[in-house]
Amino acid sequence: MTLRVKVNSLQGFKEEDLHFLYKALRLQEDILNSQEFKLQWYALDPKHNKGMSQKEIYGLIMRGYSRFEDLVDYELDYFLTMRQLKKGTLGSTLMSTGRITINSLKFQYWKKSKYGHVYLCSNLFHEALHSQFGFTHPSFPPSWKRKSVPYLGGYLVRDLGERVVKYNYKLSPVANQK
Ligand SMILES: [Zn+2]
Repeated sequence: MTLRVKVNSLQGFKEEDLHFLYKALRLQEDILNSQEFKLQWYALDPKHNKGMSQKEIYGLIMRGYSRFEDLVDYELDYFLTMRQLKKGTLGSTLMSTGRITINSLKFQYWKKSKYGHVYLCSNLFHEALHSQFGFTHPSFPPSWKRKSVPYLGGYLVRDLGERVVKYNYKLSPVANQK
């Protein structure tokens, strides 16, 4: 089965923002369904992982698990709001509802930069790991924050995305997916 990345709700977006948003999400879908993502995800060793193995978390992601629904739908759901947040913030997730806010300042900056969709793609995956899967990054011990599931997952998607868009790397579709 292929995982689909799906937008369920949009608030605060303008028509002219949508092309860029979907470009980022299409890239994300290609990355998540790649063999490269699977192998590199398995090799990560995150902190604050709720006692789950990388293989277990991968299984949840690829089945489209969500802590808000009780079904296997092979869809990674996004509920997105565009709003201005403070400078330096990329995005944020309201854990009680799973709704993700994208900082309009960052969005507009990325939209104007050549590979900006890679960074939006990466940030949205970081937020999805909070939103749909409930992973957190407590700031203690401080060195663990950036080794948490959302950070490592976001970095991996960013690195693969850069290979694809900067160096024209062709991802291989994932093999033997159950
Ligand atoms: Zn975060």
